[in-house]
Amino acid sequence: MNLKIRKFPYPYKCALSISSDIDNASSLKFFVQFMDFLNSEKQTIYGPGLELEVGNSFWFFNGSKSAQLSYFEGLTDKETALAPIIRLYIKSKHIDTLHSWGNFDKGGFKRYYAEKGVEVLDRYNLYIPVWINHGVDLNYQKVGDYPKMYGDDPTHPCYHTDLISEFGFEFIWTGKVTHIIGQNGRKNFSILSKLIIQKILKKIKYQHVKDPIYDDDNNLIKPLLLRDGNKKWEFIRFINSWGNAGKLDLHEFSGQISAQTLKRLIKNQGIMILYTHFNENLCASIPMRLKERLIFLKKMVNRREILMGTTSRILKYWEISNYINFKVQNFEDKVIVLIDDKMHSPVGEKPVKSFHLSGLTFYIDVLKPHKIIFKGKSYKTILNPPDQTGKQSISIPWQKLEYPEVNIQ
Ligand SMILES: [Zn+2]
Repeated sequence: MNLKIRKFPYPYKCALSISSDIDNASSLKFFVQFMDFLNSEKQTIYGPGLELEVGNSFWFFNGSKSAQLSYFEGLTDKETALAPIIRLYIKSKHIDTLHSWGNFDKGGFKRYYAEKGVEVLDRYNLYIPVWINHGVDLNYQKVGDYPKMYGDDPTHPCYHTDLISEFGFEFIWTGKVTHIIGQNGRKNFSILSKLIIQKILKKIKYQHVKDPIYDDDNNLIKPLLLRDGNKKWEFIRFINSWGNAGKLDLHEFSGQISAQTLKRLIKNQGIMILYTHFNENLCASIPMRLKERLIFLKKMVNRREILMGTTSRILKYWEISNYINFKVQNFEDKVIVLIDDKMHSPVGEKPVKSFHLSGLTFYIDVLKPHKIIFKGKSYKTILNPPDQTGKQSISIPWQKLEYPEVNIQ
C-alpha cells in the first residue's frame, strides 16, 4: 500500500512567499512597523495588522556610501539598534534570509567579513536557511558560477560558502527571475506560452547576457553544484507577470500583487517566491492601492486558497513534500504512516525535523483511522473532506509562525 502526498496542504490550491531584500530600507521604525502590519494583529501606523506570514532579510555590513539598515555600523563591529531586532526575528524565523554578508557595491568584500558574521550566528545559535545574492559586479561574495561571482570558489580570496554551511544554509538565489505566475504549476496555455516567450527572449534579446537570467523550465528549485563540491538548492523568483522590473521597491510591490496575479496563481496551482524590496521608499503611510491589494491577499489566505509562508518555509515544504521517505502499514483496524527522519533528495541526504512536517497532507484510500508516526511519536492529524479530486486526505496541521513582540529602543 502506498499513499500519495497532496501538492499543497489541504485545502490550499497554491503557495506564495514574499521575499524582500533589505536594500535601501528607509528606516528602522518603518521596517518594524511594516513587519508588524504584515504579520501581527496589532494596530500599526499602516492600519490594523493583517496577520499574514511575511519574512524579511538582513545583512551584516554596509561597505557602500548609501544609508542602509545593517547589523553592524558600516564595516565596524559596533552593533546598530537593528542588531537585537534581527536576532529576535531570526529566532522567530521571520528573518530567514541573508542578503549576502553586506552591501559591497563599492567593492572591498573579504572573507574576514563572513568570519565576523559567522561569529554572531555562532554566539547566538542562529540559523539562516536562505542566501540571496546582492547587487552589482563588485559584490564578489556572490554565489554561483557566473562572471565576477566568487563566493563558492575555494581558490578565490572571497570564498565563504564553507563558513555558512554550518548555519542551516540550504537554498540559494543566484539571480534567476521569471514572469510565470506560479512555478511547478499546471501546464495550461498561460504557463506554456510564457515559457516559450521566455525561451525565445533568452535566445535573441538576452543572448549575450552572462548573468543568471531565466531557466528553460518552470521549476521552483533545482540542484546547484557549488564550485567547492557542495550541493544546494537554487530557486527562482517571480518579478512580474510581464515587463521590465525597476527597483522593485514598495511602489512596484503593489503592481506585483494585483488581484489578477493572485487569482492566476490560484488557477495555475503554482508555488511562487515573489521578489521585492518593500522596505525601499517605505514611509509613514503606504499607497492606498497597495493596502487594498494586501487586504485582498489576506482574504485569499483566510479562505485558505493561498498558503503563505516565509521563503524558507515555502521552499522547505516543497522539498519535503517531494522527497520525504515514508512507509505505510495497513492493519485491519488502522493504517500507520511511518515517516523517516532522513530524506534523500537530489542535493544529498538531509535530516528531517518535526517542524518540517507542518501541513503535510496524504490522500487516503481506505476509511480507517490513520496514524502518522515520526521519530517514535504519534502526530495529531486532521481528516479532510474530499477536495476537487474527490479524494479524502489527512493532514498534519499547518502551523503559522509565532510573531514576536518587537520593541525599538
Ligand atoms: Zn540587493
